[in-house]
This record gives sequence, structure tokens and C-alpha cells, in this order.
Amino acid sequence: MTGQIAIDAKNLGKSYKIGKSKQQVLKNVDFNAYHGQVTMIMGPSGSGKSTLIAALSGLMKPDEGEVVALGENLWKKKRGKIDRFRLDHCGFIFQGFNLFPALNAMQQVEQVLKYCKVPHGEAKKRARAVLESVGLGPRVSLRPSEMSGGEKQRVAIARALSKEPKLIFADEPTSALDSVSGQVVIKLLHDAAKARNAAVIVVTHDPRLEAYADRIIHMEDGKILSDHMIDRSSQA
Ligand code: ADP
Ligand code: MG
Repeated sequence: MTGQIAIDAKNLGKSYKIGKSKQQVLKNVDFNAYHGQVTMIMGPSGSGKSTLIAALSGLMKPDEGEVVALGENLWKKKRGKIDRFRLDHCGFIFQGFNLFPALNAMQQVEQVLKYCKVPHGEAKKRARAVLESVGLGPRVSLRPSEMSGGEKQRVAIARALSKEPKLIFADEPTSALDSVSGQVVIKLLHDAAKARNAAVIVVTHDPRLEAYADRIIHMEDGKILSDHMIDRSSQA
């Protein structure tokens, strides 16, 4: 499946009304992403990156255009089916971690698996395995307040990966982290693309993360300015 299109979006448009004026945040955006690749979206604050992610992942309906995700025409579906699609196929990682303060690392992951109707025993096994895979084996019983930013983001990644999504959306996942933790996080996302054949779409400001991208897309003012694939076939 590597090299196959995971998401194909055409002519996306979105505007917000502020008082009497209207701000167009996405302007005829065409976007696609492939399985097995890390697609990085870069661009200044306010350029529409988060809005694009929201339109691609079923979080926010665009005013215009269509999104074909895993072969399904996303915005043609009923609301409940879109929510189900997101639950079944999409993993999310945000800048602010979005963990539940009262739950420990194991419980954060188990809770998602419960929503996905994975039986309890199986959920426990999978939660432990995925937390080990992000290097948190010894820390599974800690709550967010007892973890560093990097550890919290690794819990969020484990939670996203636990349901084995084919689409992973990360919106500025390293912005709140020191550079070493940021590298760990981007490596894990890169591994998810390669080992699990997921399409990993990462919004970032951080040029150091470019080393892990297969493709870099620059956005500005609601438009895609440039889009290039990075050929790493000549590298070790
Ligand atoms: P980025 O992620 O690139 O920083 P966003 O997609 O978050 O950009 O936002 C693009 C523009 O749309 C910004 O000017 C922002 O203020 C505006 N915007 C985003 N969400 C809303 C909203 N719910 N209501 C009004 N304006 C919004
Ligand atoms: Mg944003």
C-alpha cells in the first residue's frame, strides 16, 4: 500500500465571518497525502494550517470542495458516520497533548480502545505494548502531572497509534517541547508512517523536523505555495 494515495482533497474553501467582514482562510486548496509518508505542512501562524487539518480529518466542514479519505468521500457522509470514520481511522496529536488529568498513561490509551470497542483484556495488552513501543514501559502508571512534556506527548502518540489508524494528524506536536524531546516525537511519527504504512500529516514551524519529512508543503494566506517530495533513496 506504500505510495498509494490516502487522502485526496480538491478545491477546499473556508471562510469565517468576523463582524461584517469575511476572512477567507482556505482558498481553492488541493491537497493529497500518501500512505507510508510523512507529509509536512509549514507556514506562518494564521496561514490556515489547522483549518486544513480540520477539513481533512472530518472535524470541520469546508464551505467548498471535497475530501476523499481512504477512498471515501468524507463530507458526503452523515455526521455520525464522519465521527465514526474519525474514531476508526484517524489518530490526532496536538501541541497541548490533550490528556485527561485524572488518568494514568495506561488508562489514557485504554479509554480510546474502549471507544473503539476493543475487549478489555485485549485493550490492556495493546495499551501496554504501544506504551512500551514509545519508550514508556516503566512509566505506564504515571498521570500527566507526573510526566515531562516529552513523556506526555509520547502518551498522546501511543494513544493515537493504539487503534492502528491509517491517517495520523499532528498539529504542531513539538512546539511545546525541548529539541531533544521534539526529535523523539518526530522519529516516532516517522516510524508510524514507515512501519504501519500510515499517512502522517504533520503541521510544524520547526525547520529541524524537515529531516524526517518525505514531502514538504508550504502554506501562506490560505494557499499552498510550494509542494515538493524529498528523495531519500540515495541516502543510507
Ligand atoms: P494556522 O494553523 O496556520 O495558524 P488557522 O487555520 O488556525 O491557522 O487559522 C487561520 C485563520 O483563520 C486565522 O486568521 C484565524 O484567526 C482564523 N480562524 C481560525 N478558526 C476560526 C474560527 N473558529 N472563527 C474565526 N476565525 C477563525
Ligand atoms: Mg494552527
